[in-house]
Amino acid sequence: MEVKNQISLAEFNTFGLAVDAPLFTEVTSSLALQEVLKDPRFENALILGGGSNVLLLQHLSRPVIKISIPGIRIVEENDQAAIVSAGAGVVWHDLVMWSIVNNLGGIENLSLIPGLVGAAPIQNIGAYGVELSDVFYNAIAIGRKTGDSKIFKAEDCAFGYRDSVFKNELKDEYVITTLRLSLTKSNHKLHLEYGGISQTLDEMGVIAPTIDDVARAVIRIRSAKLPDPTKLGNAGSFFKNPIVLKSKATQMAEEFPSMPAYTIDKNFTKIPAGWLIEQTGFKGKVFGNVGMHKNQALVLVNYGAATGTELWEHAQRVMAAVLSKFDIELEPEVNLIN
Ligand SMILES: Cc1cc2nc3c(=O)[nH]c(=O)nc-3n(C[C@H](O)[C@H](O)[C@H](O)COP(=O)(O)OP(=O)(O)OC[C@H]3O[C@@H](n4cnc5c(N)ncnc54)[C@H](O)[C@@H]3O)c2cc1C
Repeated sequence: MEVKNQISLAEFNTFGLAVDAPLFTEVTSSLALQEVLKDPRFENALILGGGSNVLLLQHLSRPVIKISIPGIRIVEENDQAAIVSAGAGVVWHDLVMWSIVNNLGGIENLSLIPGLVGAAPIQNIGAYGVELSDVFYNAIAIGRKTGDSKIFKAEDCAFGYRDSVFKNELKDEYVITTLRLSLTKSNHKLHLEYGGISQTLDEMGVIAPTIDDVARAVIRIRSAKLPDPTKLGNAGSFFKNPIVLKSKATQMAEEFPSMPAYTIDKNFTKIPAGWLIEQTGFKGKVFGNVGMHKNQALVLVNYGAATGTELWEHAQRVMAAVLSKFDIELEPEVNLIN
């Protein structure tokens, strides 16, 4: 096992924060991971994928294990569906592109989400009307205390909106090594109704869309809308979209008739956090090294030399403003790492 001392994590997090870790190692197999987990120096380590959903608040006092387990293959199939297995270190978007090339449907709407496969179940990644849980078959994970491997079926994962058991009861208990997805081989069910996909397909001149067309439309929309973390440090949506009581949403809609809102069920409504932030005047406003992006108010941006503390202080400023104006508490989607 190669262990590095006192390493900068600047290139391992999409905020580009130059935070140091005292020890760092990279694992490329489950066996290697089991070995590292037994090593007392790596007790309490931060498990890192692509670093696209973490805010590193300060220099770490704990070690880092970077997950780089490779490999994509079909493990089972019939005429209609295939079970695809991917190593936790595979780049998520590479898995999406591999599935398109192999005419396997189900994750095309999740094109261009940064990060690695192993982190996808942690917050049940989602975009454009599809969530990982829609195609999840199972995941293999190693218990951090026992070193034993366990298979998690969908019902074990308590998937919710940007949420799973791995963010709650089992937080920091397991490291995911393999993800298996159930993808369609024929009669792909396309989801075109969200975020302007249909309109973009029209603009692209596509009449009878394939999964490849949908992926291309999503890539086009995302590239135009979201800042590229290699150019401007960010972690995508910093906050979750709050879910409020329907009565509260109705009352707000009377005061703000242009407010967008999405019915969850008969009791709850989801309100876009980006809209709430926009109403507080933070969209595009720069505070020193930080700010909420000019095109997408939900994206907290490092304009170059920000520290984790500065970013978090700004997030709290935004949260306080939304609370004061709307009496709604925003919850960070990004994992805060001490
Ligand atoms: C520009 C941009 C756009 C984004 N758009 C979306 C979007 O549309 N939808 C969406 O859902 N997300 C989005 N995200 C967030 C992010 O891409 C996802 O959350 C992604 O799954 C994070 O993967 P990662 O490998 O970078 O995870 P990391 O940031 O490395 O880790 C995230 C968390 O998971 C834990 N973790 C990582 N790997 C493992 C593992 N193998 N086992 C156990 N725990 C692990 C880490 O300890 C950490 O707590 C976006 C981010 C950016 C920068």
